[in-house]
Amino acid sequence: MKVAVIGAGAAGLVSARELSRNGHDITVFEQSGQVGGVWVYQPETEDDLLGQSPSRPVFSSLYDSLRTNLPRDLMAFQDYTFDTKGGGDDHWLRYPHHSKVLIYLERFANDFGILPLIRFNEKVERLAPVEDRWAISTQTTKDVLFDAVLVCNGHYSKPRVPDIPGMDGFEGLTLHSHNYRNSKVFEGKRVAVLGTASSGVDITREISEVAETVYWCGDIFTSGSGVTSRGIPLYPNPLCFNGSSLEFPDGVVVPDIDVFIFCTGYEYQFPFLASDSVTVTDNWVHPLYLDMVPPEHPNLAFIGLPYLVIPFPLFDMQARWFSKVLTGAVVLPSRSEMDKMIREREAKFVEQKIKTHHYHKLAEKQTDYINHLARQCCEPLMPDWFGRLALEAQKSRLADPEYFRDKPMKFHGPTVVI
Ligand code: FAD
Repeated sequence: MKVAVIGAGAAGLVSARELSRNGHDITVFEQSGQVGGVWVYQPETEDDLLGQSPSRPVFSSLYDSLRTNLPRDLMAFQDYTFDTKGGGDDHWLRYPHHSKVLIYLERFANDFGILPLIRFNEKVERLAPVEDRWAISTQTTKDVLFDAVLVCNGHYSKPRVPDIPGMDGFEGLTLHSHNYRNSKVFEGKRVAVLGTASSGVDITREISEVAETVYWCGDIFTSGSGVTSRGIPLYPNPLCFNGSSLEFPDGVVVPDIDVFIFCTGYEYQFPFLASDSVTVTDNWVHPLYLDMVPPEHPNLAFIGLPYLVIPFPLFDMQARWFSKVLTGAVVLPSRSEMDKMIREREAKFVEQKIKTHHYHKLAEKQTDYINHLARQCCEPLMPDWFGRLALEAQKSRLADPEYFRDKPMKFHGPTVVI
């Protein structure tokens, strides 16, 4: 089967490996000149610091100091350890610097013979259904037909910026973490950071070392939540900007803010998809069976949409599963059955009052999800250490969001960690 993969990040690379293991004829389209996706650090930033309509979009969202927020033994693909015998080094930190993840992915691409399958600097501009196949156009090729396509274009590139009343009149600087590289320019400033996920934690801590003051805002805080162990004051989500001040729901006002940083996540986008069979509504990509396959087009898969997961092992199993769907070893339910399952799942989300933009969140359901795919495609289930280490890493991060990376942990996987 002639199969296209869009993107040569972690999801695209492991998809290419699984497709070739299953004997498919593969072409990987990669818009940049190298593998690694989000792990290819780009020092430049965009001219629109909120990343909404930059004249030259920057793909990666890494900052200089970033270390992984997962231990490398947990991050590794199932059968490619993140140590000397696999794609890493036994002596690397357990939560390594971002440059080490790129090395790991480059070695993966090399060791599994994926590089010759990749057409670098070929951005997919159009992906359109043509009868039961897909036509791909790039800047150099037009309507090349494929029997199936795996979309692996990532979802950490287009900043999500919530609308805060009065923002247009804010007298300070606004930026999204996508365009944050290091704390130098914030020396002596009064900075507010919005967001409590990994980037919010890291950036708040880093800036607090040089800024006059950092105010850390998030919906998990209330006014009077106190301060962090470093004395950083905590605030809820701001109600509005007023000139250079920030106003909070309980009437608290913080004046003279120089910089406001949004650490508010990213949006899923598929600008090349010329089909209305899949749409994105408030960061929910639908309708998709098992968060991957649109019932109308069972020869299309989106690899890597779930979040709050351990990404590489999850991509790995999705790729194994879909490669076997394409060989016929895994048989999909009928279109109407898939539609029904999707509707039932959505009804459950609605009943549980889950917000639409959380529909792809897997969190504690991820091992069940991966094992569900594994059973269907006759691959090994996730080993016990995986669930244990995932839980331990999560607890360690929550218990000490600032220093968890250097704390010892009890469980480990087959990767050598010192
Ligand atoms: P990406 O890495 O984004 O790759 C997508 C690829 O598709 C890119 O190479 C891109 O150039 C290409 N592409 C896009 N559009 C097109 C097109 N139209 N045509 C051709 N090519 C295209 N995960 C962890 O496991 N541990 C961590 O510690 C961790 N930290 C993170 C920190 C930050 C700041 C961010 C943003 C993410 C982090 N992640 C982490 C998650 C990370 O995104 C995943 O681990 C993973 O690398 C995503 O891989 P991907 O292949 O899905 O997407």
